[in-house]
Amino acid sequence: KVRVRFAPSPTGGLHLGGVRTVLFNYLFTKHNGGDFILRIEDTDQTRFVPGAEEYIFDCLKWCGLEPDESPLHGGPYAPYRQSERKPIYKQYAEQLIKDGYAYYAFDTAEELDEMRSKFKTAENTSPQYNYVLREKMRNSLTLGDDEVTRLLSEEAPYVIRIKMPLDETITFTDMIRGEVSFNSSQVDDKVLLKADGMPTYHLAVVVDDYLMKITHAFRGEEWLPSAPVHVILWKYLFGLENMPQWAHLPLILKPDGNGKLSKRDGDRLGFPVFAMNWMDAKMNELTEGFRERGFLPEAFVNMLAMLGWNDGTSQEIFTLDELISKFSMDRVHKGGAKFDFEKAKWYNHEWIKKLPVSNYKAQIKKLFDEKNIVASDDKKFETVLELVKERCTLLPDFVQQASFFFQSPVDIDINAIKPKWDEKKNLFFTELIRAFELATLWEHDELEKEFKEMAAAHQIKPGELMLPLRIMLVGGKFGPGVFDIATIIGREDTVKRIQHTLS
Ligand code: GLU
Repeated sequence: KVRVRFAPSPTGGLHLGGVRTVLFNYLFTKHNGGDFILRIEDTDQTRFVPGAEEYIFDCLKWCGLEPDESPLHGGPYAPYRQSERKPIYKQYAEQLIKDGYAYYAFDTAEELDEMRSKFKTAENTSPQYNYVLREKMRNSLTLGDDEVTRLLSEEAPYVIRIKMPLDETITFTDMIRGEVSFNSSQVDDKVLLKADGMPTYHLAVVVDDYLMKITHAFRGEEWLPSAPVHVILWKYLFGLENMPQWAHLPLILKPDGNGKLSKRDGDRLGFPVFAMNWMDAKMNELTEGFRERGFLPEAFVNMLAMLGWNDGTSQEIFTLDELISKFSMDRVHKGGAKFDFEKAKWYNHEWIKKLPVSNYKAQIKKLFDEKNIVASDDKKFETVLELVKERCTLLPDFVQQASFFFQSPVDIDINAIKPKWDEKKNLFFTELIRAFELATLWEHDELEKEFKEMAAAHQIKPGELMLPLRIMLVGGKFGPGVFDIATIIGREDTVKRIQHTLS
Protein backbone atom coordinates (compact mmCIF):
# COMPACT_ATOMS: atom_id res chain seq x y z
CA LYS A 1 0.00 0.00 0.00
CA VAL A 2 1.19 3.49 -0.84
CA ARG A 3 2.30 5.37 2.27
CA VAL A 4 3.45 8.95 1.87
CA ARG A 5 4.72 11.24 4.56
CA PHE A 6 4.93 14.97 5.02
CA ALA A 7 7.61 15.62 7.61
CA PRO A 8 7.76 19.27 8.63
CA SER A 9 9.95 20.69 11.36
CA PRO A 10 7.97 22.94 13.69
CA THR A 11 10.21 25.92 13.16
CA GLY A 12 7.65 28.45 11.92
CA GLY A 13 4.51 28.96 9.90
CA LEU A 14 3.83 26.99 6.77
CA HIS A 15 4.61 28.95 3.66
CA LEU A 16 3.55 28.48 0.12
CA GLY A 17 6.27 25.97 -0.77
CA GLY A 18 5.58 23.87 2.30
CA VAL A 19 1.86 23.67 1.66
CA ARG A 20 2.43 22.81 -1.96
CA THR A 21 4.62 19.92 -0.81
CA VAL A 22 1.77 18.78 1.42
CA LEU A 23 -0.66 19.08 -1.44
CA PHE A 24 1.38 17.05 -3.91
CA ASN A 25 1.99 14.43 -1.23
CA TYR A 26 -1.70 14.33 -0.50
CA LEU A 27 -2.85 14.21 -4.12
CA PHE A 28 -0.44 11.42 -4.98
CA THR A 29 -1.46 9.44 -1.90
CA LYS A 30 -5.18 9.74 -2.45
CA HIS A 31 -4.87 9.12 -6.18
CA ASN A 32 -3.26 5.82 -5.28
CA GLY A 33 -5.63 4.98 -2.44
CA GLY A 34 -2.82 5.23 0.10
CA ASP A 35 -2.25 6.63 3.57
CA PHE A 36 -1.04 10.15 4.19
CA ILE A 37 1.19 10.44 7.22
CA LEU A 38 2.20 13.62 9.00
CA ARG A 39 5.35 13.27 11.07
CA ILE A 40 6.67 16.10 13.18
CA GLU A 41 10.45 16.36 12.91
CA ASP A 42 11.33 18.23 16.04
CA THR A 43 14.75 16.85 16.88
CA ASP A 44 16.41 20.23 16.56
CA GLN A 45 15.30 21.76 19.84
CA THR A 46 17.17 24.98 19.16
CA ARG A 47 14.91 25.79 16.23
CA PHE A 48 11.68 24.75 17.91
CA VAL A 49 8.93 27.40 17.87
CA PRO A 50 6.02 26.91 20.26
CA GLY A 51 2.75 27.02 18.39
CA ALA A 52 4.26 25.97 15.09
CA GLU A 53 2.90 22.45 15.33
CA GLU A 54 -0.68 23.60 15.97
CA TYR A 55 -0.20 25.96 13.08
CA ILE A 56 0.65 23.10 10.77
CA PHE A 57 -2.42 21.16 11.86
CA ASP A 58 -4.72 24.15 11.50
CA CYS A 59 -3.29 24.89 8.14
CA LEU A 60 -3.86 21.38 6.80
CA LYS A 61 -7.35 21.42 8.20
CA TRP A 62 -8.17 24.74 6.55
CA CYS A 63 -6.88 23.40 3.24
CA GLY A 64 -8.89 20.20 3.65
CA LEU A 65 -5.77 18.02 3.54
CA GLU A 66 -6.21 15.96 6.68
CA PRO A 67 -3.62 13.27 7.41
CA ASP A 68 -4.61 9.67 8.09
CA GLU A 69 -1.88 9.27 10.69
CA SER A 70 -0.24 12.00 12.78
CA PRO A 71 0.47 12.99 16.39
CA LEU A 72 -3.10 14.31 16.42
CA HIS A 73 -4.83 11.53 14.50
CA GLY A 74 -2.81 8.66 15.98
CA GLY A 75 -2.06 5.55 13.95
CA PRO A 76 -0.31 2.17 13.98
CA TYR A 77 3.22 3.62 13.96
CA ALA A 78 2.84 6.12 16.82
CA PRO A 79 4.43 8.18 18.20
CA TYR A 80 4.61 10.49 15.19
CA ARG A 81 6.64 13.18 16.91
CA GLN A 82 10.37 12.50 16.67
CA SER A 83 11.19 13.97 20.08
CA GLU A 84 9.04 11.18 21.54
CA ARG A 85 10.98 8.53 19.63
CA LYS A 86 14.38 9.46 20.99
CA PRO A 87 15.34 6.00 22.35
CA ILE A 88 14.71 4.39 18.98
CA TYR A 89 17.43 6.20 17.08
CA LYS A 90 20.47 5.58 19.26
CA GLN A 91 20.56 1.86 18.56
CA TYR A 92 20.69 2.52 14.82
CA ALA A 93 23.59 4.92 15.28
CA GLU A 94 25.40 2.33 17.37
CA GLN A 95 24.66 -0.35 14.82
CA LEU A 96 26.38 1.81 12.20
CA ILE A 97 29.44 2.13 14.45
CA LYS A 98 29.56 -1.61 14.91
CA ASP A 99 29.43 -2.14 11.18
CA GLY A 100 32.18 0.42 10.58
CA TYR A 101 29.94 2.96 8.86
CA ALA A 102 29.99 5.59 11.57
CA TYR A 103 32.30 6.78 14.33
CA TYR A 104 32.41 8.64 17.63
CA ALA A 105 33.76 12.17 17.44
CA PHE A 106 34.87 13.91 20.63
CA ASP A 107 35.79 17.30 19.27
CA THR A 108 34.72 20.25 21.33
CA ALA A 109 33.05 23.28 19.82
CA GLU A 110 36.35 25.20 20.18
CA GLU A 111 38.29 22.48 18.40
CA LEU A 112 35.78 22.54 15.57
CA ASP A 113 36.04 26.32 15.28
CA GLU A 114 39.80 26.11 15.27
CA MET A 115 39.74 23.46 12.58
CA ARG A 116 37.46 25.54 10.41
CA SER A 117 39.62 28.64 10.58
CA LYS A 118 42.84 26.70 10.18
CA PHE A 119 41.77 24.95 7.01
CA LYS A 120 39.95 27.86 5.50
CA THR A 121 41.20 28.76 2.04
CA ALA A 122 40.10 31.23 -0.59
CA GLU A 123 38.26 28.46 -2.50
CA ASN A 124 36.98 26.70 0.56
CA THR A 125 35.70 29.21 3.07
CA SER A 126 33.85 26.77 5.28
CA PRO A 127 35.79 23.50 5.45
CA GLN A 128 33.66 20.43 6.06
CA TYR A 129 34.30 17.59 8.44
CA ASN A 130 35.08 15.11 5.68
CA TYR A 131 37.57 12.42 4.72
CA VAL A 132 40.41 14.95 4.77
CA LEU A 133 39.70 16.65 8.05
CA ARG A 134 38.46 13.63 9.95
CA GLU A 135 42.06 12.42 9.91
CA LYS A 136 43.15 15.44 11.90
CA MET A 137 40.41 15.48 14.52
CA ARG A 138 39.69 13.68 17.79
CA ASN A 139 37.51 10.77 16.84
CA SER A 140 37.37 7.03 17.07
CA LEU A 141 39.14 6.70 13.72
CA THR A 142 42.21 8.60 14.92
CA LEU A 143 42.38 7.99 18.67
CA GLY A 144 42.98 4.28 19.09
CA ASP A 145 40.63 1.85 20.87
CA ASP A 146 41.95 2.39 24.41
CA GLU A 147 41.53 6.12 24.27
CA VAL A 148 38.02 5.78 22.87
CA THR A 149 37.05 3.30 25.60
CA ARG A 150 38.47 5.65 28.22
CA LEU A 151 36.63 8.70 26.87
CA LEU A 152 33.37 6.79 26.68
CA SER A 153 33.72 5.48 30.21
CA GLU A 154 34.46 8.99 31.44
CA GLU A 155 31.28 10.08 29.73
CA ALA A 156 33.09 12.59 27.61
CA PRO A 157 30.62 14.35 25.30
CA TYR A 158 30.57 12.90 21.80
CA VAL A 159 28.61 12.92 18.60
CA ILE A 160 28.26 10.06 16.14
CA ARG A 161 29.18 10.88 12.56
CA ILE A 162 28.63 8.94 9.37
CA LYS A 163 31.82 7.82 7.66
CA MET A 164 31.16 8.90 4.10
CA PRO A 165 32.83 6.48 1.71
CA LEU A 166 35.56 7.77 -0.54
CA ASP A 167 34.90 8.33 -4.22
CA GLU A 168 31.78 6.26 -4.56
CA THR A 169 28.98 7.17 -6.90
CA ILE A 170 25.67 7.45 -5.11
CA THR A 171 22.75 7.13 -7.47
CA PHE A 172 19.01 7.13 -7.05
CA THR A 173 16.02 7.71 -9.26
CA ASP A 174 14.04 10.83 -8.56
CA MET A 175 10.44 10.70 -9.79
CA ILE A 176 10.73 14.19 -11.23
CA ARG A 177 14.38 14.43 -12.23
CA GLY A 178 15.14 10.86 -13.25
CA GLU A 179 18.53 9.47 -12.34
CA VAL A 180 20.52 11.66 -9.96
CA SER A 181 24.16 10.96 -9.02
CA PHE A 182 26.55 12.33 -6.43
CA ASN A 183 30.17 11.67 -5.69
CA SER A 184 30.42 10.60 -2.06
CA SER A 185 33.71 12.47 -1.55
CA GLN A 186 31.78 15.69 -1.96
CA VAL A 187 29.57 14.92 1.00
CA ASP A 188 30.73 15.61 4.56
CA ASP A 189 30.58 13.27 7.55
CA LYS A 190 27.24 14.47 8.83
CA VAL A 191 26.45 14.18 12.53
CA LEU A 192 23.86 11.46 13.09
CA LEU A 193 23.51 11.55 16.86
CA LYS A 194 24.10 14.71 18.83
CA ALA A 195 25.77 15.12 22.20
CA ASP A 196 22.38 15.29 23.93
CA GLY A 197 21.48 11.89 22.50
CA MET A 198 19.03 13.38 20.02
CA PRO A 199 19.36 12.18 16.47
CA THR A 200 19.88 14.72 13.74
CA TYR A 201 17.32 15.05 11.03
CA HIS A 202 19.38 12.82 8.69
CA LEU A 203 19.31 9.79 10.94
CA ALA A 204 15.75 10.29 12.16
CA VAL A 205 14.27 10.76 8.71
CA VAL A 206 15.77 7.52 7.40
CA VAL A 207 14.95 5.45 10.47
CA ASP A 208 11.38 6.71 10.60
CA ASP A 209 10.73 6.33 6.89
CA TYR A 210 11.85 2.72 7.34
CA LEU A 211 9.90 1.98 10.51
CA MET A 212 6.77 3.70 9.22
CA LYS A 213 6.96 1.74 5.95
CA ILE A 214 7.00 4.88 3.84
CA THR A 215 6.85 4.14 0.12
CA HIS A 216 7.21 7.68 -1.27
CA ALA A 217 8.99 10.75 0.06
CA PHE A 218 8.36 14.04 -1.73
CA ARG A 219 9.99 17.18 -0.47
CA GLY A 220 11.30 20.54 -1.62
CA GLU A 221 14.26 20.80 -3.94
CA GLU A 222 16.29 22.35 -1.12
CA TRP A 223 16.66 18.82 0.29
CA LEU A 224 18.36 17.45 -2.80
CA PRO A 225 21.90 17.99 -1.38
CA SER A 226 20.90 15.84 1.63
CA ALA A 227 19.67 13.01 -0.55
CA PRO A 228 23.08 11.26 -0.87
CA VAL A 229 23.35 11.10 2.93
CA HIS A 230 19.92 9.55 3.14
CA VAL A 231 20.58 7.07 0.36
CA ILE A 232 23.86 5.96 1.96
CA LEU A 233 22.16 5.56 5.32
CA TRP A 234 19.43 3.50 3.69
CA LYS A 235 22.08 1.29 2.17
CA TYR A 236 24.07 0.87 5.40
CA LEU A 237 21.11 0.36 7.70
CA PHE A 238 18.48 -1.45 5.71
CA GLY A 239 19.85 -2.37 2.32
CA LEU A 240 18.26 -0.35 -0.43
CA GLU A 241 15.28 -2.56 -1.07
CA ASN A 242 12.54 -0.75 0.78
CA MET A 243 13.88 2.73 0.27
CA PRO A 244 11.05 5.13 -0.56
CA GLN A 245 10.88 6.62 -4.00
CA TRP A 246 12.09 10.17 -3.81
CA ALA A 247 10.85 13.25 -5.58
CA HIS A 248 12.32 16.69 -5.09
CA LEU A 249 9.77 19.33 -5.99
CA PRO A 250 10.93 22.39 -7.90
CA LEU A 251 11.10 25.71 -6.14
CA ILE A 252 8.43 28.34 -6.23
CA LEU A 253 9.79 31.45 -7.91
CA LYS A 254 8.96 35.11 -7.82
CA PRO A 255 6.43 36.27 -10.46
CA ASP A 256 9.18 37.44 -12.81
CA GLY A 257 10.89 34.07 -12.49
CA ASN A 258 13.83 35.85 -10.98
CA GLY A 259 14.95 33.85 -7.98
CA LYS A 260 13.29 31.88 -5.27
CA LEU A 261 10.26 33.24 -3.45
CA SER A 262 11.50 34.12 -0.02
CA LYS A 263 10.00 35.17 3.26
CA ARG A 264 10.65 38.79 2.43
CA ASP A 265 8.31 38.53 -0.52
CA GLY A 266 5.62 37.85 2.00
CA ASP A 267 5.25 41.55 2.51
CA ARG A 268 4.04 41.91 -1.00
CA LEU A 269 2.46 38.55 -1.60
CA GLY A 270 0.67 37.48 1.54
CA PHE A 271 3.05 34.65 1.85
CA PRO A 272 2.09 32.63 4.93
CA VAL A 273 -1.05 30.57 4.61
CA PHE A 274 -2.45 32.40 7.55
CA ALA A 275 -1.09 34.36 10.39
CA MET A 276 -0.96 33.60 14.05
CA ASN A 277 -0.28 36.02 16.80
CA TRP A 278 3.01 34.39 17.74
CA MET A 279 4.38 34.89 14.27
CA ASP A 280 4.76 38.59 14.50
CA ALA A 281 6.75 38.61 17.69
CA LYS A 282 8.59 35.35 17.40
CA MET A 283 9.25 35.05 13.73
CA ASN A 284 9.11 38.63 12.67
CA GLU A 285 6.65 37.43 10.12
CA LEU A 286 3.36 38.77 8.94
CA THR A 287 0.07 39.07 10.66
CA GLU A 288 -1.76 38.50 7.41
CA GLY A 289 -1.74 35.39 5.34
CA PHE A 290 -3.88 34.05 2.55
CA ARG A 291 -6.72 33.25 4.90
CA GLU A 292 -6.85 36.73 6.43
CA ARG A 293 -6.67 38.33 3.04
CA GLY A 294 -9.88 36.56 2.18
CA PHE A 295 -8.86 33.57 0.10
CA LEU A 296 -11.16 30.58 -0.01
CA PRO A 297 -9.42 27.29 0.77
CA GLU A 298 -10.79 25.77 -2.45
CA ALA A 299 -9.15 28.54 -4.47
CA PHE A 300 -5.93 28.42 -2.51
CA VAL A 301 -5.55 24.68 -3.01
CA ASN A 302 -6.47 24.91 -6.69
CA MET A 303 -3.94 27.70 -7.24
CA LEU A 304 -1.23 25.75 -5.41
CA ALA A 305 -1.81 22.63 -7.46
CA MET A 306 -1.21 24.62 -10.62
CA LEU A 307 2.16 25.83 -9.33
CA GLY A 308 4.21 23.24 -11.13
CA TRP A 309 1.54 20.86 -12.35
CA ASN A 310 -1.20 20.69 -14.98
CA ASP A 311 -3.32 17.89 -16.37
CA GLY A 312 -2.14 18.39 -19.94
CA THR A 313 -5.20 20.38 -20.98
CA SER A 314 -5.92 24.07 -20.56
CA GLN A 315 -8.26 23.44 -17.63
CA GLU A 316 -7.36 25.61 -14.65
CA ILE A 317 -10.23 25.27 -12.22
CA PHE A 318 -10.23 21.97 -10.34
CA THR A 319 -11.97 20.76 -7.22
CA LEU A 320 -9.90 18.76 -4.76
CA ASP A 321 -11.62 15.57 -5.92
CA GLU A 322 -10.78 16.34 -9.53
CA LEU A 323 -7.19 17.03 -8.58
CA ILE A 324 -7.02 13.71 -6.79
CA SER A 325 -8.34 11.82 -9.74
CA LYS A 326 -6.13 13.60 -12.28
CA PHE A 327 -2.88 14.06 -10.39
CA SER A 328 0.23 12.27 -11.51
CA MET A 329 3.82 12.88 -10.59
CA ASP A 330 5.02 12.71 -14.18
CA ARG A 331 3.12 15.87 -14.99
CA VAL A 332 5.00 17.84 -12.33
CA HIS A 333 7.38 20.23 -14.08
CA LYS A 334 11.10 20.07 -13.53
CA GLY A 335 11.56 23.83 -13.63
CA GLY A 336 10.55 26.25 -10.90
CA ALA A 337 6.95 27.45 -10.82
CA LYS A 338 6.28 31.18 -10.85
CA PHE A 339 3.99 32.47 -8.16
CA ASP A 340 1.85 35.36 -9.25
CA PHE A 341 -0.36 37.03 -6.67
CA GLU A 342 -2.63 38.48 -9.35
CA LYS A 343 -3.21 35.00 -10.72
CA ALA A 344 -3.88 33.75 -7.19
CA LYS A 345 -6.58 36.41 -6.92
CA TRP A 346 -8.04 35.29 -10.23
CA TYR A 347 -8.47 31.78 -8.82
CA ASN A 348 -10.22 33.20 -5.81
CA HIS A 349 -12.59 35.25 -7.92
CA GLU A 350 -13.46 32.16 -9.95
CA TRP A 351 -14.16 30.17 -6.80
CA ILE A 352 -16.24 32.91 -5.22
CA LYS A 353 -18.42 32.84 -8.32
CA LYS A 354 -18.48 29.06 -8.48
CA LEU A 355 -19.44 28.26 -4.90
CA PRO A 356 -22.81 28.95 -3.31
CA VAL A 357 -22.41 31.81 -0.85
CA SER A 358 -23.60 29.55 1.95
CA ASN A 359 -20.09 28.03 1.82
CA TYR A 360 -18.40 31.24 2.87
CA LYS A 361 -21.05 33.58 4.20
CA ALA A 362 -20.02 32.96 7.82
CA GLN A 363 -16.63 34.54 7.11
CA ILE A 364 -18.25 37.54 5.50
CA LYS A 365 -20.65 37.86 8.42
CA LYS A 366 -17.60 38.11 10.66
CA LEU A 367 -16.18 40.90 8.54
CA PHE A 368 -19.53 42.69 8.77
CA ASP A 369 -19.60 42.27 12.53
CA GLU A 370 -16.11 43.73 12.82
CA LYS A 371 -17.35 46.82 11.02
CA ASN A 372 -20.56 46.92 13.08
CA ILE A 373 -22.73 46.43 10.04
CA VAL A 374 -25.88 44.68 11.15
CA ALA A 375 -27.15 42.04 8.76
CA SER A 376 -29.66 40.15 10.85
CA ASP A 377 -31.95 39.04 8.05
CA ASP A 378 -30.13 35.93 6.91
CA LYS A 379 -32.18 35.43 3.80
CA LYS A 380 -31.56 38.98 2.66
CA PHE A 381 -27.88 38.57 3.49
CA GLU A 382 -27.62 35.54 1.23
CA THR A 383 -29.56 37.19 -1.59
CA VAL A 384 -27.29 40.21 -1.44
CA LEU A 385 -24.08 38.18 -1.39
CA GLU A 386 -25.30 36.12 -4.31
CA LEU A 387 -26.07 39.34 -6.21
CA VAL A 388 -22.67 40.97 -5.71
CA LYS A 389 -20.35 37.98 -5.69
CA GLU A 390 -19.26 38.32 -9.29
CA ARG A 391 -17.82 41.70 -8.33
CA CYS A 392 -15.70 40.29 -5.52
CA THR A 393 -12.17 38.93 -5.72
CA LEU A 394 -11.28 38.56 -2.05
CA LEU A 395 -13.76 38.12 0.78
CA PRO A 396 -13.27 41.65 2.23
CA ASP A 397 -14.51 43.01 -1.11
CA PHE A 398 -17.98 41.92 0.01
CA VAL A 399 -17.91 44.57 2.71
CA GLN A 400 -17.55 47.29 0.12
CA GLN A 401 -19.91 45.68 -2.33
CA ALA A 402 -22.67 44.74 0.08
CA SER A 403 -22.73 46.92 3.17
CA PHE A 404 -24.95 49.59 1.61
CA PHE A 405 -27.74 47.03 1.47
CA PHE A 406 -27.81 47.08 5.24
CA GLN A 407 -26.99 50.66 6.11
CA SER A 408 -27.12 54.01 4.33
CA PRO A 409 -23.84 54.79 2.62
CA VAL A 410 -21.54 56.74 4.88
CA ASP A 411 -19.63 58.60 2.18
CA ILE A 412 -21.60 59.82 -0.78
CA ASP A 413 -19.50 60.70 -3.80
CA ILE A 414 -21.44 63.89 -4.44
CA ASN A 415 -18.77 65.18 -6.82
CA ALA A 416 -19.74 62.48 -9.27
CA ILE A 417 -23.23 64.03 -9.62
CA LYS A 418 -22.63 67.72 -9.11
CA PRO A 419 -21.14 68.89 -12.42
CA LYS A 420 -24.16 67.76 -14.40
CA TRP A 421 -26.80 68.57 -11.84
CA ASP A 422 -29.51 71.06 -12.61
CA GLU A 423 -32.98 72.13 -11.57
CA LYS A 424 -34.55 69.74 -14.08
CA LYS A 425 -32.94 66.78 -12.40
CA ASN A 426 -33.85 68.06 -9.01
CA LEU A 427 -37.46 68.18 -10.05
CA PHE A 428 -37.27 64.70 -11.53
CA PHE A 429 -35.99 63.17 -8.31
CA THR A 430 -38.50 65.05 -6.19
CA GLU A 431 -41.25 63.56 -8.28
CA LEU A 432 -39.59 60.18 -8.32
CA ILE A 433 -39.82 60.12 -4.56
CA ARG A 434 -43.55 60.65 -4.77
CA ALA A 435 -43.93 58.01 -7.47
CA PHE A 436 -41.92 55.52 -5.45
CA GLU A 437 -43.98 56.26 -2.37
CA LEU A 438 -47.12 55.46 -4.31
CA ALA A 439 -45.88 52.48 -6.33
CA THR A 440 -48.23 49.57 -5.84
CA LEU A 441 -45.66 46.88 -6.53
CA TRP A 442 -42.14 47.16 -5.14
CA GLU A 443 -40.19 45.06 -7.55
CA HIS A 444 -37.52 45.48 -10.20
CA ASP A 445 -39.52 45.71 -13.45
CA GLU A 446 -42.18 47.92 -11.98
CA LEU A 447 -39.61 50.38 -10.61
CA GLU A 448 -37.70 50.46 -13.84
CA LYS A 449 -40.87 51.13 -15.80
CA GLU A 450 -41.89 53.92 -13.45
CA PHE A 451 -38.43 55.46 -13.67
CA LYS A 452 -38.27 55.38 -17.44
CA GLU A 453 -41.73 56.75 -17.98
CA MET A 454 -41.03 59.61 -15.67
CA ALA A 455 -37.69 60.32 -17.37
CA ALA A 456 -39.53 60.50 -20.71
CA ALA A 457 -42.11 62.87 -19.23
CA HIS A 458 -39.27 65.10 -18.01
CA GLN A 459 -37.45 64.79 -21.32
CA ILE A 460 -34.25 63.55 -19.75
CA LYS A 461 -32.37 60.52 -21.04
CA PRO A 462 -32.66 57.70 -18.45
CA GLY A 463 -28.92 57.17 -18.82
CA GLU A 464 -28.25 60.59 -17.31
CA LEU A 465 -30.38 59.79 -14.29
CA MET A 466 -29.09 56.33 -13.59
CA LEU A 467 -25.76 57.43 -12.16
CA PRO A 468 -27.22 59.99 -9.75
CA LEU A 469 -29.69 57.37 -8.51
CA ARG A 470 -26.87 54.90 -8.02
CA ILE A 471 -24.78 57.40 -6.08
CA MET A 472 -27.76 58.21 -3.88
CA LEU A 473 -28.41 54.58 -3.06
CA VAL A 474 -24.89 53.21 -2.93
CA GLY A 475 -22.60 56.18 -2.32
CA GLY A 476 -20.32 55.53 -5.30
CA LYS A 477 -20.01 54.26 -8.83
CA PHE A 478 -20.24 50.56 -8.09
CA GLY A 479 -22.65 47.77 -7.29
CA PRO A 480 -25.19 45.70 -9.21
CA GLY A 481 -28.19 47.04 -11.10
CA VAL A 482 -29.86 50.04 -9.40
CA PHE A 483 -33.35 48.57 -9.54
CA ASP A 484 -32.08 45.34 -8.02
CA ILE A 485 -30.63 47.43 -5.23
CA ALA A 486 -33.81 49.43 -4.73
CA THR A 487 -35.88 46.24 -4.68
CA ILE A 488 -33.75 44.73 -1.96
CA ILE A 489 -33.27 47.74 0.28
CA GLY A 490 -37.01 48.41 0.11
CA ARG A 491 -39.24 51.38 -0.41
CA GLU A 492 -38.58 53.18 2.82
CA ASP A 493 -34.80 53.15 2.55
CA THR A 494 -34.79 53.97 -1.15
CA VAL A 495 -36.92 57.03 -0.60
CA LYS A 496 -34.92 58.05 2.46
CA ARG A 497 -31.61 57.88 0.60
CA ILE A 498 -32.87 59.94 -2.36
CA GLN A 499 -34.31 62.49 0.02
CA HIS A 500 -31.13 62.63 2.02
CA THR A 501 -29.01 63.46 -1.04
CA LEU A 502 -31.44 66.04 -2.37
CA SER A 503 -31.55 67.97 0.85
N1 GLU B 1 12.00 17.86 8.34
C1 GLU B 1 12.29 18.31 7.01
C2 GLU B 1 11.71 19.69 6.85
O1 GLU B 1 11.66 20.41 7.78
C3 GLU B 1 11.68 17.33 6.03
C4 GLU B 1 12.49 17.05 4.82
C5 GLU B 1 12.01 15.72 4.23
O2 GLU B 1 10.83 15.66 3.87
O3 GLU B 1 12.78 14.77 4.20
O4 GLU B 1 11.28 20.12 5.80
